[in-house]
Amino acid sequence: MKICIHRGANQIGGSCVEVECRGKRIVLDVGLTLNVVSPDDVELPDVPGFTSPDPSLLAVIISHPHQDHYGLVSKINNDIPIVIGAAAQRILEVAGLFTGNKVQFSNVMHLIDRKQIDLGPFRITPFLMDHSAFDSYAVLVEAGNKKLFYTGDLRAHGRKGPLFYKLIDNPPPNVDVLLMEGTTISRIDNDDGFPKEDDVENEMVKAFRQMRGMGLVMCTGQNVDRLVTIFKACIRSDRKFIVDMYTAEVLRATGNPNIPQADWEQICVYLPENQKKKIKRAKAFNVSNRYRNDRIYPEKLEAVASRSVLLVRQSMINELEEADCLECAGLIYSMWDGYLKKPEMKPFLDWVAKWKIPMVKCHTSGHASVKDLQQLKAAFPEAIVVPIHTDNPERFKYLFKQAAIHRDKEWWDV
Ligand SMILES: [Zn+2]
Repeated sequence: MKICIHRGANQIGGSCVEVECRGKRIVLDVGLTLNVVSPDDVELPDVPGFTSPDPSLLAVIISHPHQDHYGLVSKINNDIPIVIGAAAQRILEVAGLFTGNKVQFSNVMHLIDRKQIDLGPFRITPFLMDHSAFDSYAVLVEAGNKKLFYTGDLRAHGRKGPLFYKLIDNPPPNVDVLLMEGTTISRIDNDDGFPKEDDVENEMVKAFRQMRGMGLVMCTGQNVDRLVTIFKACIRSDRKFIVDMYTAEVLRATGNPNIPQADWEQICVYLPENQKKKIKRAKAFNVSNRYRNDRIYPEKLEAVASRSVLLVRQSMINELEEADCLECAGLIYSMWDGYLKKPEMKPFLDWVAKWKIPMVKCHTSGHASVKDLQQLKAAFPEAIVVPIHTDNPERFKYLFKQAAIHRDKEWWDV
């Protein structure tokens, strides 16, 4: 077996790995580099078959529905089989209308937890994992008597944390290479691990109970764990959860009846102007019709403000002012801290300051702490650990026994 990290050996996001055995190849992830909006601005990794037909390329496996892992899939040849979780596929398909990154899969196979897929000389075994993206997998690749375990992105402290411990209690034996994400390796503040989603929920309950007006929460519409957290905190503080239509679509696409849905009594759907425009432009009225019984309209926001929590986005600030629902409002910022320092966030933060809206942060990482990564490595005692999805690969040498650093575009033999 031969492996090449095309992108990701020394950066977080944009991962793409090619694996070769007996003249056949598969690719693990084909991500868009972080901080890039359009796939047009990023070069496709140099993989034969991506743009012109090449039968030796058997499939592209997408570990989870985050742009930094699937973002360039729209640029590759339509005929290449894509292997992805079924819910992950649905999420990407519904999100396209709102995010503009339209993904249509014409030739697709599904990742199912621990269900093997044979592709030429490769045997693939997916492991459902805990991560901030829904339907995320780590993948065991077996070929030519060798074993590669690719972690994708994972963590142990989210709502699916038990999946992490299920893996380390019963890991696949005799793995040769552990290709392991190291997002948090360069962050110094995680020696004791990260808060759990339940801790975030408790913090939110505390904050909502102190607010006298509308509770505003800023978080990504695809962080399903976090949406569950907000919903639970709403129930505990006797508030309705108002989601935007994009988020309602993502919740529906999970296909999981235990995850909050728009037709639940404690949830209603708000259609922000900017999402309304997108629906009109695409004539996607089937989407808005789906929620016609669950909607809340701008003129109603003021009346329900003190008993509600609304997912807020930067694009909504003008319409919220017009709706007159901001008196005594409070804001929970529930995303990575780093975004707050980005220039794009400045107009929103200025608006928060102008309205004197108090802001608290309630968040936890989507990625494993160093301590958890060390536990993961210990479950694969024979494996060489190779860093990916990290901006500090060198530090792997100090943190783990048997680390080997490979550069982008370098092929190596297992
Ligand atoms: Zn990632």
